[in-house]
Amino acid sequence: RIAVLGSTNMDLVAYVARAPQHGETVTGREFRTVPGGKGANQAIAAARSGAEVTMIGAVGNDDFGTRLRATLDHSGVDTDLLRTVEGPSGTAHIVVDDEGGNAIVVVPGANGTVTALHYDDEAAITGADALLLQLELPMDGVFAGADAARRHGVRTILTPAPVQPLPPELLEATGLLVPNEHEAAALTGIADPHEAVTALLRRVPEVVITLGAAGSMYASRFAEPVTVPAPQVRAVDTTAAGDTFVGALAVALGEGRPMEKAMAWASAAAALSVQRPGASSSMPYRSEIDAEAAA
Ligand code: ADP
Repeated sequence: RIAVLGSTNMDLVAYVARAPQHGETVTGREFRTVPGGKGANQAIAAARSGAEVTMIGAVGNDDFGTRLRATLDHSGVDTDLLRTVEGPSGTAHIVVDDEGGNAIVVVPGANGTVTALHYDDEAAITGADALLLQLELPMDGVFAGADAARRHGVRTILTPAPVQPLPPELLEATGLLVPNEHEAAALTGIADPHEAVTALLRRVPEVVITLGAAGSMYASRFAEPVTVPAPQVRAVDTTAAGDTFVGALAVALGEGRPMEKAMAWASAAAALSVQRPGASSSMPYRSEIDAEAAA
């Protein structure tokens, strides 16, 4: 079983030829609402990968909240600990231009209320094989989860996104840190991931850096770094590739697979997701991942 303490957001995406300048109005071409948030995306990835998943967090008492909960429910994620709170759900306001560039405003909404654990949350974390954390909740909330996991010997897997300085007490409670290349560079000030990983190992015992099409690299304080290649595929949409990878990785590790095997399986899951458009809707199911991993 996997527990996720994290965000749910409704992504409100406007497609425009050119993004508006300050004070300007432009007419868009298309609009979509897409359920997301890194927490929810990782929860759905883990559920489709075949684990029982509990989502801890909050949605607002608005229409978005109803839809965000329904999306998780339909993906088989247990939402009993996803609270509905007074006020708006988290939203991400995204403008995508014809060059594929984007500008994003995130309003945390209900996510901003998750500053501490409730009693049942702690029980869910205690009984899990792993706790997945990201940084789209208040730092106090993230730390409370990590601390509960550490006290009960549950492996924490932290995705440091959106990237920001990590408080020492959070690092102390983190088992496995999974940044992408950009996040690894931002956290360390070192551009080369092979060098950044050494700096990160001074702060946490295990690190996986995802390297996009180049795969992923694992290093720990106890073993030499290893790189696992990604399957070569034609990517059409890499949205949520990292979340797919982390969700699948957690499931494989939770089943007791060794790190390199777990990374290869997670790479198969992420490779499938980048070949399809969409965020959580592009995430593969276990049987597909098994087939891709065997290919
Ligand atoms: P993020 O999505 O957080 O930016 P990455 O770009 O590093 O993170 O992608 C995460 C993982 O998704 C990679 O480690 C890899 O396994 C997979 N992936 C991403 N892009 C591709 C690609 N073009 N081809 C194959 N796999 C990919």
